[in-house]
Amino acid sequence: MSAEAVAAAVAALRDAHDELAALSIDALTARELVAALDDLETLSCQLPAQSHRMLVRLQTEATAKEMGAKSWRQVLANRWRISTSEAGRRLDEAAVLGPRRSLTGEPLDAVLPCTALAQAHGVINAEHVAVVREAMNKIPPAIDTLTRAQIEVDLVRYAVGLGPKELKDKANRALFLLDQDGPEPDDAERQRRRGVAMGPQGSDKMRPVRGNLTPELAAILEAINAKWAAPGMCNPADEVPCVSGTPTQAQIDNDHRTVAQRQHDALVAVGRSVLESGVLGQHNGLPTSIIIRTTLQDLESRAGVGVTGGGTIVPISDVIRMAAHANHFLAVFDKATGSALDLFRARRVASPAQRIMLIARDGGCTKPGCTVPAYGCQVHHAARDWADDGETNVDELGLACGPDNRMVGPGGWTTQINADHDVEWIPPADLDTGQARVNDYHRPERLRPPDDEPFDEPTVRTVDEELADDVDLHLVPPLDDDEWFDDEWLIEPPDYEPADDEPSDDRPHKPGGPEPNAA
Ligand SMILES: [Zn+2]
Repeated sequence: MSAEAVAAAVAALRDAHDELAALSIDALTARELVAALDDLETLSCQLPAQSHRMLVRLQTEATAKEMGAKSWRQVLANRWRISTSEAGRRLDEAAVLGPRRSLTGEPLDAVLPCTALAQAHGVINAEHVAVVREAMNKIPPAIDTLTRAQIEVDLVRYAVGLGPKELKDKANRALFLLDQDGPEPDDAERQRRRGVAMGPQGSDKMRPVRGNLTPELAAILEAINAKWAAPGMCNPADEVPCVSGTPTQAQIDNDHRTVAQRQHDALVAVGRSVLESGVLGQHNGLPTSIIIRTTLQDLESRAGVGVTGGGTIVPISDVIRMAAHANHFLAVFDKATGSALDLFRARRVASPAQRIMLIARDGGCTKPGCTVPAYGCQVHHAARDWADDGETNVDELGLACGPDNRMVGPGGWTTQINADHDVEWIPPADLDTGQARVNDYHRPERLRPPDDEPFDEPTVRTVDEELADDVDLHLVPPLDDDEWFDDEWLIEPPDYEPADDEPSDDRPHKPGGPEPNAA
């Protein structure tokens, strides 16, 4: 099929749409309207089949890197302004419903051939596809290929006559019959399902936590809680909280915390003791520690906020309290650009002071749309690359996460620093849809009113309002296994790559894995 023929077919499809849009539908009876809607529904069920085969083909034709992004998810998200989770869904669907080819180029059936066929004919919709895919993923690995294929055929046959809810019930029944005793609890399955995730920060600055703890971690936490979550221990209400030995009777009697609150405070004590122990060593050229950036105005007014290198917003009262503990960096800036920190070409690697200043200025990866916080970023020569006589000078540096840093180069993204000392990212031609050049995500102070406008008084909430929020919290439905780490919860973890002052290993990975050790 030639490019012209495909372009002409797509154009004809769009022309047909425009023709339809121009027609008056005022004279249609209810029956005629429903018939037209039916046909439109079928067409919208069919169209993804075309996207799937093109997406599959595109991924063999080019790499994400060549398209100017770190992953295919990012290519789709950038190009069509969809979320990365939606991009991931489309790619996953294309992978199981699109046509495949063997290594020798022979055409192969799709992974879910029956579902793909039904979709191409428009007899099942996107919701059916989602239910079938989810059910097929849940089939235990021990089930043979033939049974698996039969289950898919059965599910698609049901889907043609049922809604997604009824189909899901049928699918659950089929899975139950396969595996009446439920899955055997084995270690591999436990390890697969392990995880802890912090949710997004709420307007009250709190972050929820979700997790599935392995018996090992549970045992560790139990032992710690037995000591540090005991009544009277690690109580922030005490003037000098007891962290070792036995609390006094007064400390025990005055401890009015719930068990959950005591366990929270025990975790604070664990974290502090690890940070203060020094065992974590360095991370990106600075001692591993809490780094908080704030403005002089916020600090003086005692009413503002600081932002950690991980992106958490911390009230100034907490910042001041936390500063009493050792090993924290507080970067305070007042619209300063830090020109006193210029090192020019004295050394290629940014000094720790420059890193702190960059964290203060940029707050995180400077590439628009990137949410990787400062802890996950490298120092990037934003104005001119080091190889092109760039200077290690705060005004010419910017923060960028590893994957984005590597996107910069000939044929890829370019960066420059504008008059406001913001790092601007210019996309490669394939991805340039006129999107934002500057990332404001990590700089909440930009969303504030100018200095001379008073801040809004905080609204006082009644107990009823607080309770109403609580009720909402309890109404959150229980999550399926796969939903533990959806995009909203998975705050992009820092990219633990060698800092640019450590030797980097840019050699491509060999498909056979690392070479055997000579020793
Ligand atoms: Zn980034």
